[in-house]
Amino acid sequence: GGAAEPPPKLVLDLERLSQVPPEKAGPLQRYAATIQSQRGDYNGKVLSIRQDDLRTLAVIYDQSPSVLTEHLIAWGVLDTDARRAVQHEEA
Ligand code: C2E
Ligand code: C2E
Ligand code: C2E
Repeated sequence: GGAAEPPPKLVLDLERLSQVPPEKAGPLQRYAATIQSQRGDYNGKVLSIRQDDLRTLAVIYDQSPSVLTEHLIAWGVLDTDARRAVQHEEA
């Protein structure tokens, strides 16, 4: 994309996230719950997170942001648009 193109928003599908087994999604489930608590945002079906939070989560999962993003897409937690956010980050 061009330099003027903003990165896509990272929007977690909280319903799908709650359905992923905790042995896989536990760290992300706890991270999302912390953000919800800090914002006082409890009733959403989705949660918009910061681009920086994906970097942090990649460290937590010991994976590159692009590999983690592919997992989240496979789980149905992020949509495929999120790939552009990682390309933006790693460009
Ligand atoms: P903070 O980072 O000092 O942000 C203070 C307030 O600025 C936030 O209160 C929110 O009203 C606003 N704000 C900051 N960045 C953004 C943004 O990118 N978009 C929008 N729409 N508003 C923004 P809020 O929401 O009550 O959050 C309180 C604190 O909770 C934040 O303090 C931050 O420490 C933490 N937090 C909330 N959401 C996130 C998140 O998605 N990621 C991270 N890393 N921390 C978050
Ligand atoms: P959008 O960003 O495309 O979000 C569409 C809808 O998804 C929101 O409708 C809300 O129902 C849900 N949603 C997205 N992120 C979150 C989240 O982190 N928590 C929760 N609980 N729900 C979320 P809503 O609230 O009627 O907002 C409509 C539009 O208004 C948003 O479209 C956005 O363009 C704007 N908007 C609302 N809040 C903010 C904000 O804090 N910052 C900015 N920049 N725009 C906002
Ligand atoms: P958004 O509110 O539409 O903000 C889009 C981008 O504008 C943010 O991307 C960030 O780069 C910048 N931005 C907006 N408000 C602030 C601010 O108060 N301080 C700073 N330093 N930058 C700001 P980012 O960080 O990737 O966040 C993506 C989306 O995640 C935000 O979209 C918002 O929906 C949500 N979000 C992030 N942090 C917070 C937060 O602290 N509180 C709330 N309620 N929502 C947040």
